[in-house]
Amino acid sequence: MKLLSREQIENLAKFKSNSLLTTSFYLDTSKNRMTKKEIQLSLKNLIRRNTKYLEKMSLSKENRESLAQDLENIQKFCARNLSAYNYVGLAIFSCSKKNFWQEFNLVNSPKNTIVFDQNPYVRPLSAFLGDYHRICALIIDRKEAKWYDIYMGEIALLENLKGDVPSKVKEGGWEGYESKRIERHIASRLHRYFSTAAKTTFDLYNKNKFDWLFLGCSDEYASELKPLLHPYLKKGLKGRIKAKPSDSPSRLLKESLDLKQKLKKQEKEDIVRRFIAEIEKGGLATSGLKNTLRKLNRGEAQTLLVTRHFSKPGRICPKCNLLFEDELRCTSCQRKTEKVVDIIDEAVEAAMVKRSQVKHINPPSGLRKYGDIGVLLRYKT
Ligand SMILES: [Zn+2]
Repeated sequence: MKLLSREQIENLAKFKSNSLLTTSFYLDTSKNRMTKKEIQLSLKNLIRRNTKYLEKMSLSKENRESLAQDLENIQKFCARNLSAYNYVGLAIFSCSKKNFWQEFNLVNSPKNTIVFDQNPYVRPLSAFLGDYHRICALIIDRKEAKWYDIYMGEIALLENLKGDVPSKVKEGGWEGYESKRIERHIASRLHRYFSTAAKTTFDLYNKNKFDWLFLGCSDEYASELKPLLHPYLKKGLKGRIKAKPSDSPSRLLKESLDLKQKLKKQEKEDIVRRFIAEIEKGGLATSGLKNTLRKLNRGEAQTLLVTRHFSKPGRICPKCNLLFEDELRCTSCQRKTEKVVDIIDEAVEAAMVKRSQVKHINPPSGLRKYGDIGVLLRYKT
């Protein structure tokens, strides 16, 4: 299935195989950058490397058989599906002895990885999801208005409206008085047309719940249209693109994605800046792995910030799922904790399950100085 929502990742993160390990598999299948043969080859290498790794792991017989079966099933699945596969990434989660199998078609390319762990390794999925914003692009001139839905790298026309407002009074033949009257008539037609466009945008917002609105029009029309937009839309209006209604969808998509990229970068810089300011004044934030895990364990994190690809082993309580950097016993139930290969992945999952936001920050950033991980807190304790 296609990766679409946070709920899919949350459900996946909830899967626990108890004594058995789960295989998480990520493959970059971008045919823009690689030939089919190269993709096959990287798949083969990835499987071979992990088969060898599996042989060296100390495991129960049941666990070993289950993981070996996972790798075989993944290989079979790829042999059947890869040549006609049209997404740039594939993720599979499998625990054969528990009859657990889930695959996701990805519109972002992941790093080739196989992870054997207690539960699905969802961090790359969560990072991709942060990049998905539903955008509505309104492209308008006096002749025509078009609305596009832009989501997960795809564009679709939602609606169009004919304006056909004439541009100016024809030269000659008119008395001064008459041309003034016509000018006024044209101005009021334009105003009505823009009002209808603003209302249509709000109707589309109610139906599609887009996150951001982009506007493609001249400065003159923008200042005419903006005051007519519903307050929600004024807030959602994130920027302007260079476009006209006759432009091809692929061109509009490119313009929109470029702007989205710029806004995402800005947003992350802003949140890191806010985080650092809070830390420096001893406010609503804490940094470093140990403190971050403590806040996550207590459900006090509003937003988790983590450097992309930063990873570290750690420990987890098998009973209450509390996360630790190095505690050998759970601080809550005193049970022996278990080792996990990437505690950052567990932290991302815990944050998602507890409805905190997760921001994956591209390095280099100001987060480095604070241990590559931190949280903005809901309240001061
Ligand atoms: Zn515990």
